[in-house]
Amino acid sequence: MPEAAIGEEYGTVSQAPSRITEELLGACVHCGFCVPVCPTWDILREENDSPRGRLYLMLAEADGRVDPAGAFAVHLDRCLGCRACESVCPAGVPYGHLLEQARARIRRRPATRRRQRWVLSALTRPDASKLTYAAARFLRSTGLAGGLGRLLPGRAGQLLRLLAATRPAFGLGASSLRAQPPRLGDDPPDKDDDRETYALLTGCVMEGLFEHVHAATRRSLARSGYDEVEAPGQACCGALHAHAGQLDEARQHARRNIEAFERTDCDWVVTNSAGCGAGLKDYPAWFAQEPDWLERAEALTGRVRDVTEILAVELERSGGGSATAGATRAIEGRVGYDAPCHLHHAQGVLDQPLDVLRALPGLEVEALPSSAHCCGGAGMYNLEHPELADLVRATKLGEIQRGGYDWIATGNPGCIMYLGAGLLRAGDRTPVVHPVELVDRAWG
Ligand code: SF4
Ligand code: SF4
Repeated sequence: MPEAAIGEEYGTVSQAPSRITEELLGACVHCGFCVPVCPTWDILREENDSPRGRLYLMLAEADGRVDPAGAFAVHLDRCLGCRACESVCPAGVPYGHLLEQARARIRRRPATRRRQRWVLSALTRPDASKLTYAAARFLRSTGLAGGLGRLLPGRAGQLLRLLAATRPAFGLGASSLRAQPPRLGDDPPDKDDDRETYALLTGCVMEGLFEHVHAATRRSLARSGYDEVEAPGQACCGALHAHAGQLDEARQHARRNIEAFERTDCDWVVTNSAGCGAGLKDYPAWFAQEPDWLERAEALTGRVRDVTEILAVELERSGGGSATAGATRAIEGRVGYDAPCHLHHAQGVLDQPLDVLRALPGLEVEALPSSAHCCGGAGMYNLEHPELADLVRATKLGEIQRGGYDWIATGNPGCIMYLGAGLLRAGDRTPVVHPVELVDRAWG
């Protein structure tokens, strides 16, 4: 893109970086360990498209040495936000937080800002998103999403394929045991019994398109001895806003969630979306400069668990027991596990999904060779940078097609959608499911 066009697209940076951000940027010792694990560097072989190069750009921008409307914005926007660089960094540089802060300083053109806000509202605002998801479910259930998605080129075709990939592989209810109705927050369960309690982050995309994963989550936790309490007033986690640099909006969502979950006295706040879980666990970083909210954010974060973390604890407590011992159906087949970046790198949840899957009778479990690498979906990245996202995904699709799996399992809606969309386009019918759907399936 010519520099003039870049300037028009990105405009100027809106705020100076905070002192905390500058201190964190200074933690980088420029060792380069992060460079070879970076998917965009791997493809583009350009220092500015590596984590170290992007950190240099952030430092230079903080010092006023680079044009914030040019290379700074372009290379930061090409970042997937996968945080693979954080996992290998010996200096503990919190790259993901720095990226969010840096993106918040890019002032977009008004038209670009309006488009971003419109898309985020359509996906996350309760009133607008009801219509969005009702229309999406109609396209999905009638088969139009899959049919047209195979035919249409460009962004429209991609959107339809992403939608088609949300179709439940096992239907809405894989089991005869229905999810127990949640207990209300103002009527908490008796703490004398030994059943622990949880509130589910229902989220926006998960609630709108992955109701089958919510149902499987509720059934699996009920069987493992957990009672659900309702958390009315909760909102979208805010992660999509934070990734887009809309930190004020992200904090508004975070405040609502902190208040909603404070009103429950549940033991755990459970997520079944890696992106949302990472968002909730990142709340303290979002409130680093607001001490009152920081304390409340830390209290919430201490209770947040991915559903596979809870099920893995139950497995261990019962010596391989309650999370799967009641399973009535052997699942004959092979599953390839692909780790969502926001579970693996952002939350450090590596073994639990595999442990839970390996405990299911009859199931053969393998992690994909590239499991720890990004699939290219990265929220809305695949719509904004389709060519680059396609190149990132290509390795994984090749592994899946050569692997001959019966299912691919991954615990994030964006990964389910982007891998599923790629398989659909390739004419490969391997279903992409959430691990908890297989757990639920094992109970017959
Ligand atoms: S690994 Fe960490 S310290 Fe080394 S260059 Fe990358 S971000 Fe900087
Ligand atoms: S977040 Fe991922 S794409 Fe971005 S710099 Fe780090 S490794 Fe590279």
